[in-house]
Amino acid sequence: MSRPRHRAVIIGGGFAGLYAAKALRRAPVDLTVIDKRNFHLFQPLLYQVATGGLSPGDIAAPLRAALRRQRNTEVVLGEVTDLDVTNRKVLLSDGSALDYDSLILATGARHSYFDHPEWEAKAPGLKTIEDATEIRRRILYAFEAAERSASTAERQEWLTFVIIGAGPTGVELAGAIGEIANRTLREEFRRIRPEEAHILLLDASPRVLPVYPEDLSHKAERSLIRLGVRTRSGVRVAGINDTGVTIHTGQSEEHITTHTIFWAAGVQASSMGRILANRTSVPLDRASRVMVSPDLTIPGHPEIFAVGDLAHLEHDGKPVPGVAPAAMQMGRYAARAILARINGSPAPGPFRYVGKGNLAVIGRAAAVADFGAIHISGYLAWLAWLFIHLMYIVGFQNRVLVFIQWGFHYFTFHRGARLITGK
Ligand SMILES: Cc1cc2nc3c(=O)[nH]c(=O)nc-3n(C[C@H](O)[C@H](O)[C@H](O)COP(=O)(O)OP(=O)(O)OC[C@H]3O[C@@H](n4cnc5c(N)ncnc54)[C@H](O)[C@@H]3O)c2cc1C
Repeated sequence: MSRPRHRAVIIGGGFAGLYAAKALRRAPVDLTVIDKRNFHLFQPLLYQVATGGLSPGDIAAPLRAALRRQRNTEVVLGEVTDLDVTNRKVLLSDGSALDYDSLILATGARHSYFDHPEWEAKAPGLKTIEDATEIRRRILYAFEAAERSASTAERQEWLTFVIIGAGPTGVELAGAIGEIANRTLREEFRRIRPEEAHILLLDASPRVLPVYPEDLSHKAERSLIRLGVRTRSGVRVAGINDTGVTIHTGQSEEHITTHTIFWAAGVQASSMGRILANRTSVPLDRASRVMVSPDLTIPGHPEIFAVGDLAHLEHDGKPVPGVAPAAMQMGRYAARAILARINGSPAPGPFRYVGKGNLAVIGRAAAVADFGAIHISGYLAWLAWLFIHLMYIVGFQNRVLVFIQWGFHYFTFHRGARLITGK
């Protein structure tokens, strides 16, 4: 009697899960990819949806379509709520269960509000398509409300935008709002001048893009200033309520009155980290990421891998960063390790992250790029950003659509997806 095929299950169809699945396309396994959404989301371009530059469908690809040619792969739309590691079962919210021989956990991360979950409703973060359309609604609605304001003070409140967190997402969001105010909406209103908007980018660090080299941080800041963004470093958020945000600046406290606040400050691993810790006693870091072994498995469970934003691994004395290339590399590595076991070949050596550099875009035709010894900024960095993002968007149609829209946007400043939707 022939032995049953090896059953591999991947939870999460983000960068890590999708690249792991693709690396197993010719493997002699029965592979199941489970995701609570039916699409792979290209998160690096979420801010473009949030600012009306692209539509949600441009940056998402149905998982079934992305994996349709993989005969050994089944896609399941479902939310995983628990694991039975003794009997090797994945448990779903609809009460069903899936057996596995190897399991790859790739459920990513979400926002952290530093023990203030109540801030989320007032200051949404950017992680999902719904977050992006909600942020888009708030930005566009603020200009509409300002136009109909009864007093100067009220208008000022609506025209004040606060972004908390000056990492790449905060910088990109602030730059794009600056561009909307100064270029896109120009001449569209009759009572307000959108270019009078106050766009504030706050961070506790002494400079924007704190993980970038200092010269690039300064260049990014200059580009932001050109777009009308005011950066304030060394400030801590003390409170967020209906009237705005309260900040600590050294010894003093200040309240910024606004209706429009966005959160781009903290990251926390998905709840799967906690579930895994409860079931296996694997330690978690402060952001609830799973402390994996150098081969990305869980101590005592060589059949379970945790990869991408969910995993914490020290590499060259620093944690592997929570970026898309790291997630892809981890996903591919886990797939290679599973294949080696099935084939009885030696396991790959410990996971090694190959850094691809860091890129952040600040409006149209301006970006900063840190490629280790090489730092570039301005138009050249923007072209590099454009090329790399187009290369990695999943789906040929998306690539073409995004390219055309960027071309149009570049020459006209037009943003075609300026829809106010939702409540
Ligand atoms: C706004 C933003 C901008 C970014 N910009 C960049 C950038 O410019 N460059 C860069 O390199 N990186 C960027 N990143 C980071 C990058 O997107 C992440 O590092 C990467 O997505 C991590 O991949 P992942 O597969 O670990 O997780 P994700 O891509 O988040 O995928 C996780 C998947 O798991 C699914 N899932 C979660 N829980 C469950 C569950 N219980 N059951 C079933 N499915 C589940 C989710 O639906 C999702 O599809 C950005 C991130 C954000 C949010």
